[in-house]
Amino acid sequence: MRYLILSDIHSNWEALEAVLEDARGAYDEILCCGDLVGYGADPNRVVEWTRRNVRVVVRGNHDKAAVGLEDLEWFNPVARSAALWTEQNLTAENHSYLRSLPKGPLLVGDLELVHGTPLDEDDYLMSALAAAELAGYLEKSVCFFGHTHVQGSYHINRGTVEWIEKPEAEAPRQAFELNEGAYLINPGSVGQPRDGDARAAYMICAAGERRLEYRRVAYPVEIAQAKILRAGLPGVLAERLAWGS
Ligand code: ZN
Repeated sequence: MRYLILSDIHSNWEALEAVLEDARGAYDEILCCGDLVGYGADPNRVVEWTRRNVRVVVRGNHDKAAVGLEDLEWFNPVARSAALWTEQNLTAENHSYLRSLPKGPLLVGDLELVHGTPLDEDDYLMSALAAAELAGYLEKSVCFFGHTHVQGSYHINRGTVEWIEKPEAEAPRQAFELNEGAYLINPGSVGQPRDGDARAAYMICAAGERRLEYRRVAYPVEIAQAKILRAGLPGVLAERLAWGS
């Protein structure tokens, strides 16, 4: 089975469309680590596509925030106003779909999916030390996570942690093989990358061959930006798409 692994789409239809075109023919099923909505201007289009096409979706904090399942006091003002805008603009069907999304960890064959970490769906996994501490709590040796919007992986083996870097700025793809030990793998964010690379991020996982591939693809950022501004969402949400941070 070959999986297309997505995370943090954040209502960015243009980025999602570019990913699907780039990934065409490379996967059998689609999995998602959460945050379908929030920040971008196309929540309904993204959720409708997800309902039809994605096999397993773990809920993200922005999915909760857009349907009244998260206390918005914890959100910064920009994220809060995007969550409120999203809730006002979701159709009833998409609203109830988001409300029904399960909390991680979820298991799919030999893979584990979470939004934040295996212990806390809202936690940010950002250090080798934290990855080493989480290794003992994994139910499977390969766990995909999102939430940080940073593409990259922690490989934990016999007390050491190696960081497997994303592709170089000019490279679209970079593959690696799975070895012994545990992996915490972030496919990166489709719709709002924050790792210094504005291209949409995703992964292909050929589970049987134990081979993974980071991928990046450029998309028409200016169209997504124009929609955000036209919707009256905070301007910084449009600007940051161009920076990838
Ligand atoms: Zn997110």
